[in-house]
This record gives sequence, C-alpha cells and structure tokens, in this order.
Amino acid sequence: MKYSGIGGQAVIEGIMMKNGDDYATAVRKPDGQIEVEKDRYVSLTERVKFFSLPFVRGVFSFADSMIIGMRTLTWSASFFEDDEDSEPGKFELWLDRVFGEKLETALMSLVMVFSVVMAIGIFMVFPMLLSRVLKQVIPSETVMAILEGVLRILIFIGYIKLISRMEDIRRTFMYHGAEHKCINCIEHGLPLNVENVRRSSKEHKRCGTSFLLIVMVISILFFMVIRVDSLWLRILSRIVLIPVIAGVSYEFLRLAGRSDSRLVDILSRPGLWMQGLTTSEPDDSMIEVAIHAVETVFDWRAYLAENFPEQEIPAEKIPAEKILAEKILAGKTSGESFSQGNGAAEQSAAESIRAEKFSDSRPVEAG
Ligand SMILES: [Zn+2]
Repeated sequence: MKYSGIGGQAVIEGIMMKNGDDYATAVRKPDGQIEVEKDRYVSLTERVKFFSLPFVRGVFSFADSMIIGMRTLTWSASFFEDDEDSEPGKFELWLDRVFGEKLETALMSLVMVFSVVMAIGIFMVFPMLLSRVLKQVIPSETVMAILEGVLRILIFIGYIKLISRMEDIRRTFMYHGAEHKCINCIEHGLPLNVENVRRSSKEHKRCGTSFLLIVMVISILFFMVIRVDSLWLRILSRIVLIPVIAGVSYEFLRLAGRSDSRLVDILSRPGLWMQGLTTSEPDDSMIEVAIHAVETVFDWRAYLAENFPEQEIPAEKIPAEKILAEKILAGKTSGESFSQGNGAAEQSAAESIRAEKFSDSRPVEAG
C-alpha cells in the first residue's frame, strides 16, 4: 500500500475528493447527469504555521474538513431542493432583505455552531452524567472512567444506527463506501475503473469514523488520569479537553494511515470495524460519480506509474469522440462548475467514452 495523499467525504448523491489545495465535488443530479465542481481551499494548517505543529494540527484539520464538508454539502443539496413550494414566505423575504448575501454564510455558521454544541452535549457530557448514576455502586474511579467511555461508544453506535434508518443517510453511507473504495483501489496499485473500484475494500484506515472512535478510546485514558471532584469541573474538563484529545488522536490516525506495521494494523481494527456502520457497498453508478471526483483532482495514471511501475496502466484511448469530450472537460480549469455533456452530441460522446473506459477492465492481480 502506498500513501496517495487524497481524501474525501460523501455529500448528498455524491463525493468530494481533495488533493492538496484542490478539491472536487461530483454529484449525480436528479436528471442522471454528473456535475463536477472543482475549487481550491487552502487549509488552516497551511495558512498559519502554528496550526501545523504536531498535536495542534489535528484540531485545525478537523475544522478544515468541517468547513469543506459544509460547503460541498450545501452545494450538493442545492440540486435536490424542493421546487414545489418555491414561493418564499414573508419571513424568508424579510430575512433576505435584512441580511441579503450574508444570510447563507450566517445560517451555515449557525448550523455548524449548533451541531458542535449538540455533539459535545450528547457525546461528551451526557455519557459522563449517565455514568455518575452508578457512582454509589462503583467505588473505583478507574472503572467509572471505563464505564463512561463504553457508554460514549454505545451512544455513538446507537446514533449511527438511528440515522442510518433514513434513506438519504443510507445512500450517503454508500457514497462513503465508494470514496474509500476509490482510494483503496489506487493505493493498491490498480487502475481506476468501476470494475477495480468495486472489488476494492470499503474500509480505509484514514477515515473520520476511525478518528471519532480513537477520540473516544483515548478520552478514556485521559479521564482515568484527570480526576476532579466537582461536577462542574468534570463537565468543563469534558469540553476543554476535546482539542487536546483530538490532537493526540489525529497523530495516531496519521501514523496508522501511512504505516504497514502489525501493531498499528491491530490498533486500527476497531476503527475499521466501526466503519462497517458508516460505509456500505455502493452501486456502479455511485462508483462512477466517485471516479469523476477523483479524476478531477488527481492524476492516478501518473501516481501508478511512479509508485507501481510494474503495473500495466491502460493507455487513454483517443477516438474522435474523445477529442470532442476533451473540449468539454477543458472548461473545468477555471474553478467554475461544469456539467458533463450539455448538448446531445457531447452527451453521447461522453457516454461512449465512459462505456469504453469501463470496458477495458482486464483482470488484475489484487494488492
Ligand atoms: Zn471515511
């Protein structure tokens, strides 16, 4: 396995893939076409030197992925807005008049702050309060810390199980699987096509789900050592220590993502198991969307040629239709959003290329 440096997130009916400062979001629109948007985001860890220091960078790269996540999620959601009751209400009109352009940014920030506060309440403070109920029965503070940690993980699993009953979330988890499978496909030296992606694993060590589990496990160790008597201090410690715990957890995940050692492998396993809850097997149309996102920001042919010289890389065939499609794709460099194939001719050209690209999947040795 070779580290490729790409990472991504699932959005609504699509995938965001990031490589360095570039990121691309591909969405399957209601009309069946794939829309890709390429953009740049210079991460906080790059903008401020201090933010990139070990144990500090974890918090800021988490913030980075929240920011990109919200941006791309909002973009993807814009394709699925209900147009049926598009008549804006009086309140909406008033909001629009008072806040104008800033409204969306303000609402997004509000949603982000609200979700962070809710998450801290439900996953950090609540398990602690719940475990204190058994304080009379369990005299050992060490056992209490473990109990709190176990409750935290159980609440998290329950939450995932609950939201995965929603159809939208269920599909998002399938796209999440597609994202991992694409990265695994490339990092195991296989040419990126639907066939190879389908057979790649849907679990990946460098994943947000693993990160959250590591945070929960490491917080057990933290709260075993840090003991305070007052309830308020205990609640406060569950809040102010989050950045510290997240910082430590990030370093572990980073190490795990680049290492092939057996110990790291064993330690990564619970996280991979947890990913079983947040990823599902995608269908081919989802894989196709994910491949679009990858190819917009990452030259996998160059990567394979450099890291897997023994791998035969299928040459890009250039039929006449392909040249036509190339012209369409050329529009993508400006950071503007572009649609794959607008006219009927372009559409059919793009279709035939897609069909061709996916048909040259000769059997390849895995790993
Ligand atoms: Zn993931």
